[in-house]
Amino acid sequence: MSDTVTRLAETKAAIARAARDFERDPASVTLIAVSKTMPAEAILPALEAGQRVFGENYVQEAKAKWPGLKERFPDAQLHMIGPLQSNKAREAVELFDAIHSLDRESLAKELAREIAGSGRTPRLFVQVNTGDEPQKGGVSPSQIDAFLLRCRDGHGLAIDGLMCIPPAADPPSPHFALLAKIAARHGLKGLSMGMSADYEAAIQLGATHVRVGSAIFGARG
Ligand SMILES: *Cc1c(COP(=O)(O)O)cnc(C)c1O
Repeated sequence: MSDTVTRLAETKAAIARAARDFERDPASVTLIAVSKTMPAEAILPALEAGQRVFGENYVQEAKAKWPGLKERFPDAQLHMIGPLQSNKAREAVELFDAIHSLDRESLAKELAREIAGSGRTPRLFVQVNTGDEPQKGGVSPSQIDAFLLRCRDGHGLAIDGLMCIPPAADPPSPHFALLAKIAARHGLKGLSMGMSADYEAAIQLGATHVRVGSAIFGARG
């Protein structure tokens, strides 16, 4: 077995264990295997082992790698988890089954237009900058209520959930708890939170989607 297949199995087992520890159904947590920067040959073993949900950060990279892989595994699902430029909204709607980085009005507008024009309906997560870090994408917690209303009433977008990336220097759990609280306030079911280092804590606090890269594919170069 390749290292990736071993690590994938270990990650799935750890997710199921964490879910049970916190009295959740393991099936309520979707593992997004983050394959950014990994070549198609490195992704193939995970597909062959049955993994079907993958995360990518860059539209161009995903466009280069995934059409070939999808030919062989048509039921693979792709989630866009990286920052998305508004001028890539069309390609993103064509390529991805979910977008986790909706974080501004201009992007909401472009996505609404492309969704209406294409008939495709990727699931949408609004990214929240829970640590209010200036260099990071995401809507500030102080603006999130208004932004969600604008998405719904201004652009007619159905929002599935929220996503966050806690500041690297902070303990992640307060950020996960804040995200869960905002989601509950808005009746949103999806919580995209938790990466290789902290997905168990995220599951404890209600994550429905964990985004795990290096723990499965190894360190990125
Ligand atoms: C790269 C990335 C991940 C995966 O990070 P790992 O630490 O390798 O698990 C998760 N979420 C986002 C938004 C990322 O950019």
